[in-house]
Amino acid sequence: MTLLKRLVLFTFLLTLAFPYQAFAYKIVLDAGHGGSDPGAIGVNGLREKDVNWDITQKVRDELKALGYEVVLTRKDDSYWALAQRVEFTNAQQADLFVSIHANAHPDGKTNGSMVLYYDNAYPQEDYPASETMKQLTPYSKDLAQHVLDSLVAAVGTKNLGLVPSAVYVARMGTIPSILVETAFLSQSSDAALLASDAVRAKMAKGIANGIAAYAPPLFTDTLTHWAREAIVRMQNKGVIEGMGNRYEPDRALTRAEFLTLMDRVFSFSEMKASCEPSGTVTSLVYGCQADDAEQSYKDLPTSHWASPVFAKAKKLNLLQGYSDGTIRPNQAITRGEVAYLFDHLLQLSATANSRQQAAPQPSFDDVPSSLWSAKAIYALQYKGLINGITDTSFKPDQTITRAEMATLLNRYYVK
Ligand SMILES: [Zn+2]
Repeated sequence: MTLLKRLVLFTFLLTLAFPYQAFAYKIVLDAGHGGSDPGAIGVNGLREKDVNWDITQKVRDELKALGYEVVLTRKDDSYWALAQRVEFTNAQQADLFVSIHANAHPDGKTNGSMVLYYDNAYPQEDYPASETMKQLTPYSKDLAQHVLDSLVAAVGTKNLGLVPSAVYVARMGTIPSILVETAFLSQSSDAALLASDAVRAKMAKGIANGIAAYAPPLFTDTLTHWAREAIVRMQNKGVIEGMGNRYEPDRALTRAEFLTLMDRVFSFSEMKASCEPSGTVTSLVYGCQADDAEQSYKDLPTSHWASPVFAKAKKLNLLQGYSDGTIRPNQAITRGEVAYLFDHLLQLSATANSRQQAAPQPSFDDVPSSLWSAKAIYALQYKGLINGITDTSFKPDQTITRAEMATLLNRYYVK
């Protein structure tokens, strides 16, 4: 099974299990301290690392019951450096990060709950945030507010508010991140709350419900991406989709993904094949085929998720296989191929009198008018649908990213 197919199937199964959520958001929970680092020591002798660990496990169980995917940084009473926690989190492709701590103050009197997050309005010169985290301030703050409100409502602790902070785990990541200070181990009534298993369970429920009340933004891996606006607009329009809550904007678009997009845009089943002879290009548009026999490709079994769209594309003579009998559905498609096929589909879908085109002037050094895809590239450039990499370079043989494709589609729909 291809990865995408597996993900599609996975999403489908989750949809059945959790009908109100098309997929499971993924959450990283971080139990503060651990191992040789006990954290604060309570007036009642409680060690912060033990309290954090217990509440974190309870939050995990609550979130799992709500249908979330949850991973923990430390998975037992072991020491994890702060950088290790962030590095681990960044590799998880998760939607949000919550670190769980208990507080301490030397005055012995301060009590209550607070939630820390990185706020770019209060930068600390000596503790700079990651570039991504700087831009994530509104998301982290929103998450922090939901969790604080819910935690305080659940256990009745004093509300000490949100705290803009430069703590390492809240400022170095790449997803919305917060650090929860549940209560003060240094103050007797708060420490008594933290010593109670029933109260810790309430705290966990409060934190989990706060997380559940927060709606993670669409496509966590595009929050600070240059193409985000186009990506979000095309998703809202139902043209593009991601893998769970990720879009993978900088990954190369595959041939199967491209055809799927083109089918959504142009509705292949409503189109008629063009019988005009076209410049025959390996694997691309090849004019009318007399032989209508079923043709199969050795790398495209009917069980492949994209098999139906390849069959529709074949009826339109959009693609032919390679001479080795393959069609290579998972191969990255190039910018030249995209331009060629997109332009061809525009022509097929256009009414006869809108087909006239101005003769665009070659302007890319790497797209001479003799190039097979030149006509299409200059036609799309003329229509304002596609740009070069620079003013003089188009890079027709370079693969196209999923972000670039979303941008092209967005321009097409805006026109
Ligand atoms: Zn701590």
